[in-house]
Amino acid sequence: MNNKGFETRCVHGAYKAESAQPQNLPIIQSTTYRYYNAHDVAELFDLESPNHMYTRLGSPTVDALEQKMALLEYGTAGMATSSGQAANLIAILNIAEAGDHILSGTNIYGGTYNLFNVTLRKLGIDVEFIDQDLPLEEIVAKARPNTKALFGETLGNPALSVLDLEKFAKAANEMGVPFIVDNTLATPALCRPIEYGAHIVTHSTTKFADGHGTSVGGCVIESGTFDWTVKDADGNLKFPSMAAPDESYHGLNFYETFGEAAFCTRLKAVLVRDLGCTMAPMNAYLTHQGLQTLDVRMERHVKNAKAVAEFLAHHPKVDWIVYPGLPGDKYYDLAQKYLPKGASAVMSFGVKGGRAAGEKLLENLQLASVVVHVGDIHTSVLHPASTTHRQLSEEAQLAAGIDPGLIRLSVGLETVDDIIADFDQALAKI
Ligand code: PLP
Repeated sequence: MNNKGFETRCVHGAYKAESAQPQNLPIIQSTTYRYYNAHDVAELFDLESPNHMYTRLGSPTVDALEQKMALLEYGTAGMATSSGQAANLIAILNIAEAGDHILSGTNIYGGTYNLFNVTLRKLGIDVEFIDQDLPLEEIVAKARPNTKALFGETLGNPALSVLDLEKFAKAANEMGVPFIVDNTLATPALCRPIEYGAHIVTHSTTKFADGHGTSVGGCVIESGTFDWTVKDADGNLKFPSMAAPDESYHGLNFYETFGEAAFCTRLKAVLVRDLGCTMAPMNAYLTHQGLQTLDVRMERHVKNAKAVAEFLAHHPKVDWIVYPGLPGDKYYDLAQKYLPKGASAVMSFGVKGGRAAGEKLLENLQLASVVVHVGDIHTSVLHPASTTHRQLSEEAQLAAGIDPGLIRLSVGLETVDDIIADFDQALAKI
């Protein structure tokens, strides 16, 4: 499948039916797997067999999804998780521990920001947020001896900033750390960060990957290109979890043993084993089903989003709009470079009249759904000032970058004229 095009990978990737077998990926809904003797089970515990024993540690349906995600991101291995949050958490925990330091762009999803800023800090991992638009040298200058990763989002949610992937990859290489990028909003149909030098890609598969709003899930994909034997200034291994013997596996060295799949193998064998953030087989099946049409869905999402963005940009009641696919947007040039097929389907805009006008717009929309979600076949809207950020004062909202009239919009797959007509009639009422 590695020599096949993206669309073929979407349809045929990973699972292949043998003669008289089901054409669709089967859902193996079993907690455990039966063996005839203890020796065969022991092989599993020693990571010497690709078979399964217990679904927390993997199952055939989840394996197929992981392989498909790796194929679509042009990576070497994947590891599915119970959510996108879990994917970002374990991608960091695989290589960082108390006392370590992570550099992250500031324009990232609020849930990831909290995970980094509060929970990782409580675990002793110091995450420093940096302006991702800084020049390369200034980013590299932020590195400390204990820095273990550079993180960013291809397309920031909800800032809709476009990350300069080549700059981040170069900075990470100069620092001797992996570049981890969350590719949720872009999806591999529009951008494959590994092709620009990213080492690890993460996803909330809950969004466009599933695409139909059925399953919360996540995935980590590795490029197989990072040299985990890199040493620090004192000559010690910088990533001992990857390249030194692991006592919980009789001294196994993950990088030596699993090479291009070492990062994901360790995620499964250590972190998912210990934290239990496994994807369920049913969710893997549904996400796999969604991925089969990812390329055609994204093509239509982009087409609709462009038309809706142009309509909003010219509407007299719309104050401003942020969509990197629109000429004149701050990130338009980077979007042309990294997202030439389109800047996905999420945008934010502000209506004149502030919070009250924003609330009124949502009340009057008939086709678009008010949901805390993006990347769905249904057009989805959210008014953060009256929902996710309602506890904050107006001053605090502005400080958090939330304009009181801000609407976050994820354009769906309905007839584009109907989406536009819905916004037109709702805007007329504010
Ligand atoms: N990363 C990004 C870019 C997201 O937008 C989200 C959720 O919106 C997440 C991660 C977290 O994913 P999940 O909700 O599946 O845990």
